[in-house]
Amino acid sequence: MPDTLHVDVAVIGGGIGGISVASELALDRSVVVIEAEREPGLHATGRSAASYVPSYGPPMVRRLTAASLPDFDALSDEVGRPLLTARPVLYVADAARVPALARILVAQRGGPVREISVSDALHLCPVLRPDVLVRTAIDESASDLDVAGVLEAFAARLRARGGRIVLGGRVTSIRRGLTTWTVQAGPTLVVAGEVVNAAGAWADPVARLAELPSLNIQPRRRSIFLARSLQVRPPAGWPFTLAADETFYFKDEGESVLVSPADATPVEPHDARPDELQIARAIEAVNRMTTLGIRSVAQSWAGLRSFAADGEPVVGGLDRGEGFHWVAGQGGYGLQMAPALARLAAAAIRGEAIPADLAAVGVDAHALAPARLLRGSRGGNRAAAG
Ligand SMILES: Cc1cc2nc3c(=O)[nH]c(=O)nc-3n(C[C@H](O)[C@H](O)[C@H](O)COP(=O)(O)OP(=O)(O)OC[C@H]3O[C@@H](n4cnc5c(N)ncnc54)[C@H](O)[C@@H]3O)c2cc1C
Repeated sequence: MPDTLHVDVAVIGGGIGGISVASELALDRSVVVIEAEREPGLHATGRSAASYVPSYGPPMVRRLTAASLPDFDALSDEVGRPLLTARPVLYVADAARVPALARILVAQRGGPVREISVSDALHLCPVLRPDVLVRTAIDESASDLDVAGVLEAFAARLRARGGRIVLGGRVTSIRRGLTTWTVQAGPTLVVAGEVVNAAGAWADPVARLAELPSLNIQPRRRSIFLARSLQVRPPAGWPFTLAADETFYFKDEGESVLVSPADATPVEPHDARPDELQIARAIEAVNRMTTLGIRSVAQSWAGLRSFAADGEPVVGGLDRGEGFHWVAGQGGYGLQMAPALARLAAAAIRGEAIPADLAAVGVDAHALAPARLLRGSRGGNRAAAG
């Protein structure tokens, strides 16, 4: 017998975007999260570099990331362990990357990034090659982020507030009635007053199911791998070390080194697989700048980071009263800004003003609204970084 659920809000997508906004909405609405897979967080959310970097991303992203810090503290208290663990980001430049490092320092003036000497950088990350490094900068406000812990903390809030997660419910049809939406999700039928599209790389296809315009949200593949190093791990751990032109990054992860070619290849939404050529390129680049001597890959994976044309996230509805809202286009920052983005999205869905702490730091709801992507747009998604 097929299940029929009647709720105020149906959230499509059980990644960090969907579960975090659902947990906010569950404070005063009945909410169900619908996830196609048998587990939440299997796509972009479960495949990340697990970093919180306040200096990373376009302006609204950086503000939302900084504003999320108190939320991460509250979530840490709820799960009884710290969800952020300090780990600075070290931006590194050899001679060819010096202009890129100079651009970072200009763009981040007044922010958390500052130049440090090459010898200080070598002290922090002794595997860097002194004969190759020319300039370096550091962001000491960055951290590692416990992704599973954050997702679980939001899911626990959602359940405690009466919300539900339906797994194995791939949405195949979204029909609008006079006052409600009817969403077919596998064997489950969900009848909801409002729909939230938090489908990650599938945000445009989900909007098309509802016969609404695509916003040209482009999934971009990024690969990551774990490799063994012959180097001894320093007691305090290395920084998250990022080439100034974002052509690779690495950090220590247990006994291994986690490396990414920082690829951003535009692809159709799919279950992403790592790009072997990009991995080979990253091994060459990392070995050129370090003494790691990486020879082989122990494990690799890939995920899709999804971008709107201007690189900022997409939050809210089209102001046409349909009751269809986006929480999408989080690019490479969907974890680090998730708590503030969820509060912003919940306020937009309730028709409330932007939360005061976000307004105070200059978060602008219009700069994130979906309508900006339809105005005078002919497609063409250029955002690649982040
Ligand atoms: C390699 C890599 C490194 C990254 N590193 C970082 C980092 O260090 N810090 C950071 O903040 N961010 C990082 N990100 C970005 C971050 O992972 C994403 O921004 C974030 O996870 C997006 O969350 P989401 O919920 O929108 O997407 P997803 O986690 O992809 O969730 C979307 C969900 O929607 C479901 N879905 C899609 N279509 C349907 C349908 N029709 N019916 C039902 N369900 C559906 C999918 O199954 C999926 O589970 C990284 C991403 C990648 C790939």
